Amino acid sequence: MACNMGARDIETLVHPFTNLSKHRQTGPMILDHGKGIYLFDDAGKKYIDGLAGLWCTSLGFGNEELIEASTAQMRKLPFASMFTGKSHELAIELAEKLKEIAPGPASKVLFSSGGSDANDMQVKLTWYYNNARGLPKKKKIISRMRAYHGITVASGSLTGLPPVHADFDLPIGNVAHTSCPDFYRGAAPGETEEEFSARMARELDELIQREGPDTVACFIAEPIMGAGGVVIPPASYFPKIHDVLAAYDVRIVSDEVICGFGRTGNWFGSQSLGMKPSSISVAKAITSGYFPLGAITIEEPLYQAMIKESEKIGVFAHGFTYTGHPVGCAIALKTIEIYQRDRIVERVRKLAPLFAERVKRLGEHELVGNTRSLGLIGGVELVADRNAKRLFTPNKGVGMYCIGECQRLGLITRAIGDTIAICPPLIINEAEINELFDTLDAAIRSTEDWVT
Ligand code: PLP
Repeated sequence: MACNMGARDIETLVHPFTNLSKHRQTGPMILDHGKGIYLFDDAGKKYIDGLAGLWCTSLGFGNEELIEASTAQMRKLPFASMFTGKSHELAIELAEKLKEIAPGPASKVLFSSGGSDANDMQVKLTWYYNNARGLPKKKKIISRMRAYHGITVASGSLTGLPPVHADFDLPIGNVAHTSCPDFYRGAAPGETEEEFSARMARELDELIQREGPDTVACFIAEPIMGAGGVVIPPASYFPKIHDVLAAYDVRIVSDEVICGFGRTGNWFGSQSLGMKPSSISVAKAITSGYFPLGAITIEEPLYQAMIKESEKIGVFAHGFTYTGHPVGCAIALKTIEIYQRDRIVERVRKLAPLFAERVKRLGEHELVGNTRSLGLIGGVELVADRNAKRLFTPNKGVGMYCIGECQRLGLITRAIGDTIAICPPLIINEAEINELFDTLDAAIRSTEDWVT
């Protein structure tokens, strides 16, 4: 059965975020199993999981408590619809838990199956809200260039990455993108972080003025941009952005799909970056990646508007078959219980200095233009010329080569352009952090030899 798996893959599957033409030549990497922070391929080769699956498996692989929670729920009630007023205890309990830990004025919780559809709901509910308020022109959502909010028609429009839009006829209307707070790439010569943040805020204000303040309904941002290249804004960025937004009566959505549940050294990334959201979107680490589940929190005025719409239309006509899936809720509750019991936030804070020191040390390589990290997420940007911050031409594929070297040496991670992202499971220990960075260091050294 296992033979010719590569050929079978090529003949049957379409892979997300893959060059489909090249894939026909290279074939897939077939993963077989995982244990803790390690993954094993079909030949038995061992890899450190440097990206927590896809920024999600915070408790690593083979967590018996999650497996037990999932199988017990599978036996008891493997599916329950939440349509037409039906409910179950686990959805209620998980909503209560999220309300307890979420930043911002969370009044209610609405479940999705992942991050894209969570953000899609943010768009729909923002529109619904302003229709209910009698503000039908107030519909525009402001996102940021290089943001990643998903790939559905609406969330893909919020995403600010050109390949996600190209030839998919995105973005849709009512979406505008403001500047990306990448200080390393975006700061003018001599500009301080404070001045840079003030300029980002000014550019947002100018965009709102151009679009028409009455038409702007919502601002959405990841506290740290993940798939846009691990962009960590200066500490002054969100406070200055908030000063601008305060004048315009807009919802502020924190997309916590990567930053939520301890990643940055607080429960939520917005708490680390000084962001004050009206609502959050979560997914990924809510179940440690063991089940597709997402959620958004809903603030009371929006909930009241939804009640009003139900009275007018007769129904809140939105929801997925898998909204509040009982197995997902069981796993999420157990995951959050483990985060709390094992003090995962404190753990991240304790490990963060070593992680930061090892990320920073990679900056000694001639090939590395910039390093950045917060909590247990980091980015290492490879450049052709450190002094000029000059990038390699994209077709040279330096980031992809480095990732290939990582894999050869036993580390799985991801290149975003030529930025290497590091986002290991939060259960990683000191020795494993050192092993991860020793491997990445060797891969960068070998990439350096290749480019010169
Ligand atoms: N938002 C952020 C910040 C993400 O990083 C992602 C996925 O990486 C999403 C939304 C989309 O989530 P999903 O892939 O579960 O639809």
